[in-house]
Amino acid sequence: MKNQQANELFRDYLKRGNNRITPERFEVLDAALEFDGHFSADELFISMKNNNSRVSRATVYNTLELLCQAELLSQRNFSNKVNYYESNYKRQNHFHLVCIDCGRIVEFTDKRIEKISKEIGLSLGFKTSSYSYNIFARCDNKSNCPFSHDKSHS
Ligand SMILES: [Zn+2]
Ligand SMILES: [Zn+2]
Repeated sequence: MKNQQANELFRDYLKRGNNRITPERFEVLDAALEFDGHFSADELFISMKNNNSRVSRATVYNTLELLCQAELLSQRNFSNKVNYYESNYKRQNHFHLVCIDCGRIVEFTDKRIEKISKEIGLSLGFKTSSYSYNIFARCDNKSNCPFSHDKSHS
């Protein structure tokens, strides 16, 4: 079995919430953990379909919700249109820089963000429990960016 520990965590989570334990939900779990990088629900659905899965779109959508609640996936909002997901399982907390022209996503970590998030929480009378940080930017190297403005005018 792939991702056995994640499987067990998800099974426990489903049991606790009195959710049905179906093989389709574990198929979605495996596909989500195996997906390289960030994906939308539709991208995952299409990639599963291409691998001859018969899981329905509705099952993909609602299983992704459950996987986020179980903290095996994180939901990311890089724009106001589409929700993205990524595996949380065996991964370090990280932040994102997103090109607003081409959508390229670069991950990074920086200890200063952890420190400042805690300091701001404290100074406002809170104990910071988690934080997420996105930078929206434009590719500096125009040849990497298929939608850069410079290129469209040349
Ligand atoms: Zn990420
Ligand atoms: Zn770009």
